[in-house]
Amino acid sequence: MSKLLAVGTVAFDAIETPFGKTDKILGGSGTFVGLAAAQFGVQTGVVSVVGGDFPQAYLDMMNQRGINTEGVEIVEDGKTFFWSGKYHNDMNSRDTLVTELNVLADFTPIVPASFKDSAIVMLGNLHPLTQNSVLDQLNEKPKLVILDTMNFWMDAALEDLHSVLKRVDVITINDEEARQLSGEYSLVNAANKIHKMGPKFVIIKKGEHGALLFNEGKMFFAPALPLAEVFDPTGAGDTFAGGFSGYLAKTEDISFENMKNAVIYGSNLASFCVEKFGTERMESLQTSEVQDRLKVFKELTQFEIKLA
Ligand code: AMP
Repeated sequence: MSKLLAVGTVAFDAIETPFGKTDKILGGSGTFVGLAAAQFGVQTGVVSVVGGDFPQAYLDMMNQRGINTEGVEIVEDGKTFFWSGKYHNDMNSRDTLVTELNVLADFTPIVPASFKDSAIVMLGNLHPLTQNSVLDQLNEKPKLVILDTMNFWMDAALEDLHSVLKRVDVITINDEEARQLSGEYSLVNAANKIHKMGPKFVIIKKGEHGALLFNEGKMFFAPALPLAEVFDPTGAGDTFAGGFSGYLAKTEDISFENMKNAVIYGSNLASFCVEKFGTERMESLQTSEVQDRLKVFKELTQFEIKLA
């Protein structure tokens, strides 16, 4: 089992979906990545920053779920990162209503000494310079660096994003963002262009339509589990990334073949995340539930076919 270091936002989110609306609840890319990775029992450290307004109870919950929060700085006189989003009726697309960087604006991450030897690093959605700085602090080059990002950072810090991408093995982004980053409409062409920016592995998330894994000419597709009710998709992408990296940290096998399993684990965990608002479902998720749903995934995708 390898150590996993994750960096990302630990945040307050306010979400509106066709099914309801929340006030400020717990969110953040680092939170969702950590909660998903913790499912694999790997040592997971989260590096982030929060303000004095952030409830200690949230950090306690993360610790109870097995996440090390030594790397979460608390700026007592600052305010926690706040994001607000509204989903359209199809639940596949959303509008960002508010992004208040707050303490994130001047954040210099500090990787705790105990995580400087992490073999797997998950650079969750955050300013690319912060992602870069985390890599600079490690004792040696990690076995695998995974990066997740979004259009916000492509708009605000594209050059910095390109510089960190050169150090990244796997990128996970959604289809719209892959098109924005590459300037290509076809996702196959987009993946090829993104390979040239650094990552040998490109994962393109397509919401309820699953995820594609590209590795320089090789391709794999994992569906998303069709669900009767999708309540709130927030964090599904980060949960996918946390599940993917947590599985690889547990199995210590970073081959393309094993990454196929990691994509399935990521999709499986994301299917739980969307069942309730915010982190609620991931906070209570049991290993037995994960295993049961994996069987459903297997049934969904396995078929016998005679090739001529
Ligand atoms: P996802 O639905 O997987 O894209 O992730 C949603 C989470 O990302 C929310 O909990 C937000 O707090 C967080 N988030 C939103 N915008 C940003 C941003 N610009 N940088 C980092 N995290 C963000």
